Amino acid sequence: MINITFPDGSVRAFEKGVTGYEIAKSISPRLAEEVLAIAVKPATDTTIGKGQTMDLNRPIEEDSSIFLLKWEDDEAKRVFWHSSSHLMAEALEDLYPGIKFGIGPAIENGFYYDVDLAGNQLTDADFPKIEKRMLELAREKQDYTRIDVSKAEALKHFEEKGDQYKCELISELEDGTITYYTNGHFTDLCRGPHLRNTEVIKAVKLTALAGAYWRGDETRGQLTRIYGITFPKKSMLDEYLVVLEEAKKRDHRKLGKEMELFTFSSRVGMGLPLWLPRGSVMRFELEKFLRRKQNEYGYLPVVTPHIGSKDLYVTSGHYAKYGKDSFQPIHTPQEGEEYMLKPMNCPHHCEIFRSSPRSYRDLPFRLAEFGTVYRYEQSGELHGLTRVRSFTQDDAHMFVTPDQLKEEFEKVIDLILYVFRIFNFDKYTAQVSLRDPNNKAKYIGSDENWEKAENAIIEAAAEKGLKTVVEYGEAAFYGPKLDFMVKDAIGRKWQLGTIQVDYNLPERFQLEYTAADGSKQRPVMIHRAPFGSIERFTAVLLEHTGGHLPLWLSPDQVKVLPISEKYSDFAKKVCSLLNNSDIRTSIDDRNETLGKRIREISLLRVPVLAIVGEKEVAEGTVSVRREGADAGTMKVEDFVTWLKAEMAKELA
Ligand SMILES: [Zn+2]
Ligand SMILES: [Zn+2]
Repeated sequence: MINITFPDGSVRAFEKGVTGYEIAKSISPRLAEEVLAIAVKPATDTTIGKGQTMDLNRPIEEDSSIFLLKWEDDEAKRVFWHSSSHLMAEALEDLYPGIKFGIGPAIENGFYYDVDLAGNQLTDADFPKIEKRMLELAREKQDYTRIDVSKAEALKHFEEKGDQYKCELISELEDGTITYYTNGHFTDLCRGPHLRNTEVIKAVKLTALAGAYWRGDETRGQLTRIYGITFPKKSMLDEYLVVLEEAKKRDHRKLGKEMELFTFSSRVGMGLPLWLPRGSVMRFELEKFLRRKQNEYGYLPVVTPHIGSKDLYVTSGHYAKYGKDSFQPIHTPQEGEEYMLKPMNCPHHCEIFRSSPRSYRDLPFRLAEFGTVYRYEQSGELHGLTRVRSFTQDDAHMFVTPDQLKEEFEKVIDLILYVFRIFNFDKYTAQVSLRDPNNKAKYIGSDENWEKAENAIIEAAAEKGLKTVVEYGEAAFYGPKLDFMVKDAIGRKWQLGTIQVDYNLPERFQLEYTAADGSKQRPVMIHRAPFGSIERFTAVLLEHTGGHLPLWLSPDQVKVLPISEKYSDFAKKVCSLLNNSDIRTSIDDRNETLGKRIREISLLRVPVLAIVGEKEVAEGTVSVRREGADAGTMKVEDFVTWLKAEMAKELA
């Protein structure tokens, strides 16, 4: 017999070799139907976490603690979607004989398989046919069967099949570790885990096609990546499709174009956003907003160059991370002189800290910069403003004593929550990433300081009433951190806002301050960025609001529309009066119908329209529309007061 420990701490004895499915069934048949996979951690394993996710059919041979994983668990979704990629492969093999397979992993929403179509043509018009075949095969209740094979057998199998991709993967594996999984007539080289059988896959949708280089290598052949998603219930797919449709409407790349905020030019370079005038106005407002708040918190503004000498980044350790895999160093006419495009602002800020002797009285020392950084992302990874090669972080670094960590953390949490409140991100969670307590050697910094910092973060988060999950082993090697996840208006999750403790850079840069007792001490550094970057935040905000930005942030706050040319002069007067009152206003007196002009302006998402006709001119008023709804007729001076009050409300 072996002892199985359940998540609630209870222990039950089972026959050696019991499977997850049998354990679930012993609790209730219904549970057995709902469980998709199991996480198993042998009692001898002292690492943190749930343990290894396994097939429900795999025998458990020793005392272990387990988690029965259901659809709600991310690990189960991954198993579900990865198994679905095998199902898709089986369907593809039926429909397109000769097709060859690369890899087919689960992703955040669904799965993909990279395939070599071997001369077959595939467009999204073929999706329904593939989906139909997948569902037919799913209903056959095919088992996912695991088979251990030798390397020689595996190579022989895929050589006979002519699948050079799998052969390449196998040749890199060690003998004795190779497993196949078979569902129906499809056999794949895979280490699993998978579902018990295909029957639980009840709804299927293929979502996209893309090109993908084999193993991400541009010098290798290009494969076709087929994306899909599956669900255990039809209604879940329907809900997902509604969100997807809504997400399309809110795609920030589409909105950025319609609202004339930003553009890209292949001639400038991929992933290098060009901010158009309207986008730039918005961006400056975002910066102004944060600067104002940061001033209240005692941040000191700094500006540093876009490049730094290679030595700076060797000192900081960033060269090791970015030197080879990012933009290459810039050479100068001076032999041996090299500069790097700045991948991070931190090293520059460390040098500012070092530029003058610091005393404990100077701490916390807070340096803030809207610093533009450059990182080389793979071209396939680039996506609108969310994945770019040049972006501006709303960066700040605090240099504090270990005793100041908690209070400073609380202040940063306050600032981040303020940002969330102003932008109506009212659903958020936070993740505290701590070190792996069983592997302390991996981390830089003293045990005492780590404990202090981790407790500071946990206490600060608790005192601020944050809903947190604590993840052991997720901290960076140089310090624990707190990450925020927000849910947008249609329920999608985005990571926004990070606070990171750092013991590494103060060490590498030999930063010091003079303590009260006259001794030299090393400060602790905190990195933080409430927006993350202006680019990413803009993208998230556009998708969250559908482009309906707050009035204070809108590039064009008011559009004045004379009903006809006759009223243009009055409209111009209104326009300049508003601009003189610092309200960003423009006029649209084109010789088009009012309806047509309003429709065109709606693409720009101008929040307030001021319409003037005969009556308005006579009375010195404007007819106001706010976000498409009638807001009444107002005297021009009252209109200014009203606009200012509306903005004050948004920023309160
Ligand atoms: Zn697999
Ligand atoms: Zn930093």
